[in-house]
Amino acid sequence: MTNPLQSKKVVFLDLDGTIYLGNRLIEGAQKFLKYLESSGIQYYFLSNNSSRSKQDYVQKLSGLGIQTSQNRILLSTDGVIDFLVRNQVKDTYVVGTRSMKEMFKKQGIETNSPCPKYVVLGFDTELVYEKLKKAALFLLDEIPLLATHPDMVCPTPEGPIPDIGSMLALFEKATGKKALKIFGKPNVEMVQHLMKKHHASPREVAMIGDRIYTDMELSNRLNCDFFLVLSGETSPQEAARLPKKPALVAENIGQIIPSA
Ligand SMILES: [Mg+2]
Repeated sequence: MTNPLQSKKVVFLDLDGTIYLGNRLIEGAQKFLKYLESSGIQYYFLSNNSSRSKQDYVQKLSGLGIQTSQNRILLSTDGVIDFLVRNQVKDTYVVGTRSMKEMFKKQGIETNSPCPKYVVLGFDTELVYEKLKKAALFLLDEIPLLATHPDMVCPTPEGPIPDIGSMLALFEKATGKKALKIFGKPNVEMVQHLMKKHHASPREVAMIGDRIYTDMELSNRLNCDFFLVLSGETSPQEAARLPKKPALVAENIGQIIPSA
C-alpha cells in the first residue's frame, strides 16, 4: 500500500503533542521534517496556544534542534488579529499574556482600552483575578467576546491544564455570554489562504495532529486526510473507537515517513 503522504503538496502540523511535548522533542520529528523538505512538500506548524508569539515558537523549536522561520508558524492569534485589522478595530480588552499583547500592539491595536470594541480571550498563563473581573464587567456591558481557540485543556508533561474552552465556560457561568467568534483549529480560515497560495486541493493536503476535536475536526471541515499521532492526547483505545477512521494512525510522527 502506498503511503498517503506521498500524494501531498501541503502538510499542516500540530505542535503540542505532535512535534514536541513540553520541552521534549517527539521521536522522529526532525527526520520527518527532513523528509518533507527533501520531497518538496510544503509544511506549516499550527498552534492554538495563544500564550506565545511567533518569535517564541521559532526560539522554542530552535532550542529543540528545529530551525524554522516565523512564516511557517500559524497561530490562533493570527486569525483574531486579521479579523480586528480587517474590521479596523483599534480598541480591545485582551485577557492574554504579554507575548500575545505584543502581537496586537505591533498592529496598532490597544489591548487595555477603557472603551473596547471587543473582549479578546487568549490562553493567559499570566492570569490574575483583576483581568477576569474587568473582562466579565465588559461582557455584562454587551461588549462581544472573541476567543483565540476552543481547546478545553492544554497538554503538558505533568498532565492536561485548563485552557480557553474552560475559561469560556467560566465566563458563560458568570455572565451568560458566549463567544461571538472562536478562531484557531478547527476554524478553516486558519489555513485556507495557504491552500490557495500553493494551489492545493483538499486531496493534496494532510493535517497531522494528536487531538480529535481540533486537529481531526479541521481535516473533516477541509475535507482533507488526517494522520493521527498517538504521541499526545489520544490513546490507542480512543483511536480504535473513532467512527470515522483517520487516513493513517501512527505511534509518532517519525513513523509516518514512507519507507524507501
Ligand atoms: Mg496537539
